[in-house]
Amino acid sequence: MKRVAVLGSTGSIGTSSLEVLSALSDRLTLVGATAHSRWELLAEQTQQFAPRVVVVSDASLSGEVDRTKFHPDTQLRFGREAVAELASSDDVDIVVTAIVGAAGLEGTWAAVEAGKTIALANKETLIVAGPLICELAKKTGSQLLPVDSEHSAIFQALKSGKAAEVKRIILTASGGPFRGWTRQQLESASPEDALRHPTWDMGPKITIDSATLMNKALEVIEAKWLFDVDVSQIEVVVHPQSLVHSLVEFTDGSCIAQLSPPDMKLPIQYALTWPDRFEGSSPKMDWTATWSLDFAPPDRDLFPALDLGFEVARRGGSCGAVLNAANEVAVSRFLKGDLKFNEIPQACREILDAHNFDPDPTLTDLTRLDQWARQETLRWTSSPSI
Ligand code: NAD
Ligand code: MG
Repeated sequence: MKRVAVLGSTGSIGTSSLEVLSALSDRLTLVGATAHSRWELLAEQTQQFAPRVVVVSDASLSGEVDRTKFHPDTQLRFGREAVAELASSDDVDIVVTAIVGAAGLEGTWAAVEAGKTIALANKETLIVAGPLICELAKKTGSQLLPVDSEHSAIFQALKSGKAAEVKRIILTASGGPFRGWTRQQLESASPEDALRHPTWDMGPKITIDSATLMNKALEVIEAKWLFDVDVSQIEVVVHPQSLVHSLVEFTDGSCIAQLSPPDMKLPIQYALTWPDRFEGSSPKMDWTATWSLDFAPPDRDLFPALDLGFEVARRGGSCGAVLNAANEVAVSRFLKGDLKFNEIPQACREILDAHNFDPDPTLTDLTRLDQWARQETLRWTSSPSI
């Protein structure tokens, strides 16, 4: 029995993770879960799984949460410290990091520090603090297993050859809801348009990131840290069907791909049961049907966020924390209707260019830079000149 904690159990990845646990209840058990504000759903989850502890990370809600809605055997706690405590508890083997944004860093850090196995969904942790997290993981023996579907595919495909035989890692991108749109159409793209993802059902932040291709940009950086490859070895290709989740090309020209229907339960399950595989509850390919697979290069002019990702992956240092914070603020402003779609990458570009580059920041430096970039982006996006 593997003992699991899910940080962010009420989100898209969180609820899918609990479905995986439910389907494999003879192998996986839920020890603890956290939610930021949706305590009613968290309470329902305790009724199904009766975990030892759950945490509402927004401590300001402690007055309004109805404790009687939670399972009587489940302890209810509040605040960020309780999240970090859960992530490092002795009775936890694997931590699913399913909190969205840089807010996920603290819990992930605590879990890595405690030497836990990490089922890593919160890619922002690696964008902000990739080198520090990898160094810490090496020290504590913590293993980072990818949940992101592309990185899960690469993780699986890499087993087909030796590290020195890897020529390229090819990340697939669906292209998002705006694939094929003109620049003029993109100018007036609304949050509703951007939230209509053609193949994946995800939380709002990553859905907007998929529309700008910032998600793929962040995944380039994520791949660099997870697989210790040179940025020149990473490619992005648009594959609208989202069936091939990524590929590894070896030196002899063989490209090894991983295919499955677009459903996050499979990569979550693989991270939780690795190195073993079980049937589980994710949908399977229907090989009696006719399938087409299309691949095309991305439009880098129309979606400049992608090149920002390659640039930040190359420069490293403080760039990831600044890009991530600027993007989080810009996305949230766009969702509120305060920013145009094309201004999301524009804001990121300007804040990145304006920051004082630090090649080797500490965790404290990164936290400060994150705050600085948030303030600057807020200012930029509130400026009357745009
Ligand atoms: P979501 O918005 O659906 O869920 C976010 C979760 O984080 C919720 O449980 C919420 O309570 C919690 N949360 C939000 N703000 C918080 C805060 N300040 N402090 C603590 N907890 C907070 O997001 P999602 O789509 O499930 O994505 C979660 C992470 O997984 C992201 O990093 C995303 O990039 C990554 N990811 C998601 C998918 C997907 O299919 N949804 C795929 C690959 C990677
Ligand atoms: Mg992905």
